[in-house]
Amino acid sequence: MIVNRLRRRLGKRDWTITVVDRDDVHQYQPGFLFLPFGAYDADQVSRSRHELLAPGVDLLIGDVDRVLPDEDGVLLSDGRLLPYDYLVVASGTSPRPDQTPGMLGAQWRRSIFDFYTEDGASALADALRTFRGGRLVVHVTDMPIKCPVAPLEFTFLADAWLREKGLRRDVELTYVTPLPGAFTKPVAAEHLGSMLDDRGIRLETDFLVEHVDPESKALVSYDEREIAFDLLVTVPLNMGADFVARSGLGDELNYVPVDRGTLQSTAYPNLFAVGDAADIPASKAGSVAHFAVDVFVGNFLQLIAGEQMTGEFDGHANCFVESGKGKALLIDFNYDTEPLPGRYPLPVVGPLGLLQETRANHLGKLAFRWVYWNVLLPGRPVPLPSHMSMLGKTPVRSSTDAA
Ligand SMILES: Cc1cc2nc3c(=O)[nH]c(=O)nc-3n(C[C@H](O)[C@H](O)[C@H](O)COP(=O)(O)OP(=O)(O)OC[C@H]3O[C@@H](n4cnc5c(N)ncnc54)[C@H](O)[C@@H]3O)c2cc1C
Repeated sequence: MIVNRLRRRLGKRDWTITVVDRDDVHQYQPGFLFLPFGAYDADQVSRSRHELLAPGVDLLIGDVDRVLPDEDGVLLSDGRLLPYDYLVVASGTSPRPDQTPGMLGAQWRRSIFDFYTEDGASALADALRTFRGGRLVVHVTDMPIKCPVAPLEFTFLADAWLREKGLRRDVELTYVTPLPGAFTKPVAAEHLGSMLDDRGIRLETDFLVEHVDPESKALVSYDEREIAFDLLVTVPLNMGADFVARSGLGDELNYVPVDRGTLQSTAYPNLFAVGDAADIPASKAGSVAHFAVDVFVGNFLQLIAGEQMTGEFDGHANCFVESGKGKALLIDFNYDTEPLPGRYPLPVVGPLGLLQETRANHLGKLAFRWVYWNVLLPGRPVPLPSHMSMLGKTPVRSSTDAA
């Protein structure tokens, strides 16, 4: 999105724009959620990167070894050195099953799966096809994770899928989270927690996994609780790219410290981190990256014109949350305002229900794949405000507030 938008605004004689990535395959990660249930095929979630880039943007396939921020260069692992005037780090975050003892043991991809990678989601689809019942545990290792609602969505979809297959009575479904409730924000946590309850899904909270025991097939927490599974669907610890650490640019999870309003590195004024790679206290989500890019592009043009950057990102996120049986919720929030109920005004097709399960929200989620490939990535304007609006939202007090 950044390079496609900037290419239109920066003269080709004065500016070269280079994207470095490991391969030529861009994946629509929200689609991974649907792979285990056979609703999408792998080829519906992947496209060639170079076809998504505007003419005049160079794609360089290579593995970044490190950034040399004091020398304004990016060193690739094959030894190539790319000098820059400005650098945007957009290397995302990745599941790291290697960080939890036992997770990558004998049960990995036998009875332990993740759906945060295409391989994992496809392998899980095979496992679900032969699953006839038992203890299905959906587990979040630690926060932050990208798309923090995705494991809940997976749980709701698994519940609906098992009912459809006539297997639900033979399955004990448990949702295990390190959080004190079903979600990070109190009002949504209450709402999503009661949805788990309604579906007979057990919620295990404050569970910090210490190791996975592949022999007894159990998650073991630091406070010595054990949760046995026949099939474990885990979201491993998410971490930023290792090169961020090697470059001395990251925090303990390899996220780049930036100003939360401008996404400019706190250490280097010609370096920005956008998307999941940044340490901003917002959800790690494609929608956050999209809204942040709106602010970034305006600011960047001011910066190179020698002006003050005036755009201020507010942490805006919005996500459709699949809840099964062809319905979904919508949540919309930012740094300061948690997801609230109400109506989300959307030109032409809206308004959409906030924190309400509706068919329209589900159709919105499905339609988003098209919007992603055809509108968002090419950098075309989207009729959604970058800043969160209170229009249509109903402020409520959660029972946590009351307590
Ligand atoms: C299952 C799932 C469901 C999701 N659902 C939603 C949703 O419904 N709504 C939503 O808003 N978001 C959702 N997300 C999150 C969304 O996909 C991410 O937040 C978004 O893709 C982040 O974009 P990014 O550009 O920051 O990082 P990415 O898209 O992850 O891109 C990072 C890039 O950096 C490259 N890279 C990393 N290290 C190196 C290196 N050393 N050398 C070269 N290249 C490197 C990678 O190859 C990759 O292409 C979901 C994610 C998952 C996994």
